[in-house]
Amino acid sequence: MINFKTPYWLLEETLLENNLKILANIKERTGVKILLALKGYALWQSFPLVSQYLDGCCASGLHEAKLSDEKFKKELHTYSPAFKEEDIEEIATISKHLIFNSPSQLRRFSTLAKEYNSKLSIGLRVNPEYSKSPVELYNPCGLYSRLGTTIANFDETLLERLDGLHFHALCEQDSSALEKVLEAFEDKFGKYLKDMKWVNFGGGHHITRKGYDIEKLISILNEFKNRYPHLQIYLELGEAVGWETGTLVSSVLDIVHNGIDIAILNTSAEAHMPDTIIMPYRAEVRGADEAGKKSYTYRLAGNTCLAGDVMGDYSFDKPLEIGDRIIFEDQMHYTMVKATTFNGISMPSIIIKRKDGRVEVVKEFGYEEFRDRLS
Ligand SMILES: *Cc1c(COP(=O)(O)O)cnc(C)c1O
Repeated sequence: MINFKTPYWLLEETLLENNLKILANIKERTGVKILLALKGYALWQSFPLVSQYLDGCCASGLHEAKLSDEKFKKELHTYSPAFKEEDIEEIATISKHLIFNSPSQLRRFSTLAKEYNSKLSIGLRVNPEYSKSPVELYNPCGLYSRLGTTIANFDETLLERLDGLHFHALCEQDSSALEKVLEAFEDKFGKYLKDMKWVNFGGGHHITRKGYDIEKLISILNEFKNRYPHLQIYLELGEAVGWETGTLVSSVLDIVHNGIDIAILNTSAEAHMPDTIIMPYRAEVRGADEAGKKSYTYRLAGNTCLAGDVMGDYSFDKPLEIGDRIIFEDQMHYTMVKATTFNGISMPSIIIKRKDGRVEVVKEFGYEEFRDRLS
């Protein structure tokens, strides 16, 4: 790997397949269908592998829907906080499920959408108003949330148009959190389920994380199925698919000193790993520990001119030198899909280590990506 020019994202397909096998096992033991949430992971050069295990994609609008149609080709479920009229024809034509966020969107577009695709299955996202999301930014059921219809706004005259209900209320959570959300969901919306064909439990299920209680998930799903045997259950997972399947590899460009030692890297927290700043969270660095634990501590920082473009403080066994590789762990989800060319810095290349050991550079970025986003 030493020869590849940094920075680059490196997906390891073997690790991806390990996650997919965990998900396939859940499908087998419960009959649920599992979709890939493109919002979190959309490295389509790996879709030939992902589509062997998962049932399709969930998209949040026209562009993700088109990507699923072109590159994944299985079931496509499209939900958007608010659809635009000009997109409905194309989305309806390629989708299997179309899920609306509000009664008003459902009233405006469901009949039109069915004209474009008579087999389209129509759903409504509801807000169960229960969530213990650890971070408010990622809490779809937080105060004043626009995501999903609350029971107070639910209108029973819509029932005749509906084939399914959808909720998405979790963020990086365990099956015990799902259990609580389901209670709230059934409490509020359970009476409508007899008229439905499917129910979608959204994402945020951290299934592939070590320690996630998979057996509990399986019993929750099977118990739900026993209560509502006529319903097809769907999960739509982003993070759990890409979880710990690859790295972001960068190099030290310079080391400066201002009270502490600071290593400037050829990648950026702001542009390439934005959740480290937004969420925020601390990315693991291979071979490094928390500040002060090992002998040599550095602040790792990006090469943009944003003062806060900092990944965090890390300690190493040996002093860092210019040219050393810094490898950030678990950088496949919510990174590439969010990355920008802010400040004109180049996006990391994308490299895939295939199952047979071949290493392929599938994408390199240059000046053109920066220029062509602007005009
Ligand atoms: C973000 C999102 C998902 C995927 O969430 P993960 O936390 O990545 O599993 C699924 N469904 C909807 C509606 C979402 O907004």
